[in-house]
Amino acid sequence: MKTITCSGLMSSSDVQASSKIKRGVDVRFTTRTFLIITLLAILAGCGGPEPSDQPFTDFEKTVETYDVTEYAVPVFREDDGVTYINDILIVNREYSLPPDYNPGLEPEVIDAYTRLIQDAAAEGYSLTIVSGFRSYQDQEAVYADLAGRLGEEEADLIALPPGHSEHQSGLAVDIGSVESASNAAVAFGDTPDYDWMKDVAHEYGFIVRYQEGKEDITGLDYEPWHIRYVGEEAAAEIYEEDLVLEEYLGID
Ligand SMILES: [Zn+2]
Repeated sequence: MKTITCSGLMSSSDVQASSKIKRGVDVRFTTRTFLIITLLAILAGCGGPEPSDQPFTDFEKTVETYDVTEYAVPVFREDDGVTYINDILIVNREYSLPPDYNPGLEPEVIDAYTRLIQDAAAEGYSLTIVSGFRSYQDQEAVYADLAGRLGEEEADLIALPPGHSEHQSGLAVDIGSVESASNAAVAFGDTPDYDWMKDVAHEYGFIVRYQEGKEDITGLDYEPWHIRYVGEEAAAEIYEEDLVLEEYLGID
């Protein structure tokens, strides 16, 4: 049986792990883990009123430096009218981009989708870019056209007003298969190409941004073709936990 010593209560790697915690679920897990460790420590005779050599004091000091709220609450930053939460740019129905925010497609996004498309081809799938960067003025035209044809209420379900489109961020692209891009009767979401892409996009730093069943949170209908670059680490967590970006950033 393993002997538990007081000095082994919280190693430096535990502290490092704690410092990376950002989400509520992890905080709860850590709190539970902490309670279990404390209980084991008491059972092992570490929690008595007599402080032994020094370890228990060290342990209390470690816990005091860990502020749960610092990691559980989203950290907002505004930079020239652009909002970042935990350093991830957010644009949706609520958060907008200024009319002069005009970065074009970011180089890391171009690099990521180029690799995605090449790897798809190597696996026998076809992916192609259908739409990339869209300026404020481009989105203004798209939205006005839709609103003119469908009425504002209908247009609102499938498009966002100027300043609110993720395409203006330079971090989002619309993907199609060669078939869906050339034949209006083929829906990308029904193709084997999409089926392959949805499970690997995170490896390239992308998420399928507007998910089915999360329309109330994202503010848009399901769009299997619209992928957003968030970096590989965030994309993997969002994919594995079946989240949308608003949930991941704690603003759902
Ligand atoms: Zn799109």
